[in-house]
Amino acid sequence: MKWEKLRPPEPDDPMCCCECDIDQYGCCCDCEDLDGAFNRWLRERPREGGCGPPFRGAITDKLEISMIPVLVLLPLLLRVAALHYLLGVLILTALPGLVLWYYYATHRKKTRTLFFLTLALFSLFYMYYLFVAEILPRGDVGRPQQCAVTAGVILTVGCLVHTKRGPGLVSAELQGAQGRRQEAGETPTRAHGSIPSAASSAEEALAAKWSTCPVCKITRPPRAGHCRTCGSCVQRLDHHCIWINSCVGQANHRSFLLTLCVFLSTSLYGISVVLRSLCPRQHLMTALLYCPGVYSQSSMALCFTCAWYSSIVTCGLIYLLVVQVANISFNVTEREAQLALRNKTGRRRLWGLAVDTGEFSRGFYHNWVEFLTMTDASVAPRSSLPDLV
Ligand SMILES: [Zn+2]
Ligand SMILES: [Zn+2]
Repeated sequence: MKWEKLRPPEPDDPMCCCECDIDQYGCCCDCEDLDGAFNRWLRERPREGGCGPPFRGAITDKLEISMIPVLVLLPLLLRVAALHYLLGVLILTALPGLVLWYYYATHRKKTRTLFFLTLALFSLFYMYYLFVAEILPRGDVGRPQQCAVTAGVILTVGCLVHTKRGPGLVSAELQGAQGRRQEAGETPTRAHGSIPSAASSAEEALAAKWSTCPVCKITRPPRAGHCRTCGSCVQRLDHHCIWINSCVGQANHRSFLLTLCVFLSTSLYGISVVLRSLCPRQHLMTALLYCPGVYSQSSMALCFTCAWYSSIVTCGLIYLLVVQVANISFNVTEREAQLALRNKTGRRRLWGLAVDTGEFSRGFYHNWVEFLTMTDASVAPRSSLPDLV
């Protein structure tokens, strides 16, 4: 029996429903390749993200067991770190590297993963659990403070769920609408979000920049980009965020920013409440560095260590927020900034925090108005089934 051998899919090959590894053969193969594939299957876990129904990715994501050791190890490591401040410094310094090493060791072949989203949500709920179980019984946190922290956690999750509704894929309806407009010779309407009072000539110039995605082979509006991780074209693509396991694009960029702001406010407030409870005599700014007697009680030491853990995560996300705000101020997406740097067509501004491409910027005020008023031009409210998780 001779099996038809399919050529290996190129990066821009839409043969499969989502991106395949370049060295992976198509769905059919000859006997030698079949043997090789079977041997590979025996040695490795089955490849994920290849050909198959779209819900397979969601199911395999849900069944992902490689994250379980992390969820067990994280509270364990935090408890060990709480034994002594030197252990705390050592473990908290090594923790980001450990997490990344574990991720690359277990997820080399994966495209989309719930690893970081699960880790983020688990950390959030674990910190809240410690706040309720260890800090509240001390009796020095008032009811309004408890409500503020609880509301912050709920709001963070709510904003995250809203962000997960999808980045705004370039849909068939969007292409169809553009095609009909071209046939009718109409002046195009705003597809990427713009200022109502802006000159229509600028919009026409943008509309003329509709291009064809080399991977999906679909016509897409200006500023849309192809996400190799999701295997789809996204309107006004900013970046693929591993922490939410989704792209950030035109439809969810505002809610992504809101999620960041709500989380950071909750985190900063929660850390300050915990430090006030643990070190009431110490000034808030110095309590994180010096809190005498905190290691005399294991529960206090654990909460103090978790305040440090939260501070490290918060600092990283504050940097992300600052970069996002800088990019929006110059009306440039993260993808455009990276492309401009690579092609040497942009200038670094604000001490290197932002890249000014000069292509879409209309001044600070108008750039923010455009960002806050842009609408999702796609019809489908949800991107795909895997985005539900
Ligand atoms: Zn594409
Ligand atoms: Zn993506």
